[in-house]
Amino acid sequence: MPARCQYKTETRNCLFNNCKQWKTQQKTLWAEVREATGRGKNRFTIRDLLADTRCTHAVLDFLRSTKVGSRVGPRAVPPKLGEDGTTGAGRRDDKEGVGEEEE
Ligand SMILES: [Zn+2]
Repeated sequence: MPARCQYKTETRNCLFNNCKQWKTQQKTLWAEVREATGRGKNRFTIRDLLADTRCTHAVLDFLRSTKVGSRVGPRAVPPKLGEDGTTGAGRRDDKEGVGEEEE
């Protein structure tokens, strides 16, 4: 089993600051934040961080890298729309048909 957070539920503070599981990602995040804002990790609350648009990119990258922000399972494939003979392949017009009628 992968190492889990010491907390039962990942708190935001843990995720962004303390969680050993994401140490590398946190380092990158805060380095980017510092670059963008000139402020270090200790000057930010998570609320500030999330509210600061200069940090948005870093935060999104961070979330992506931790996969925490991701809720996607296997991507749902949108239903394919029928093509109306645009391929030029022609429509079969069997008398038997396939039970498909256009009206
Ligand atoms: Zn954690």
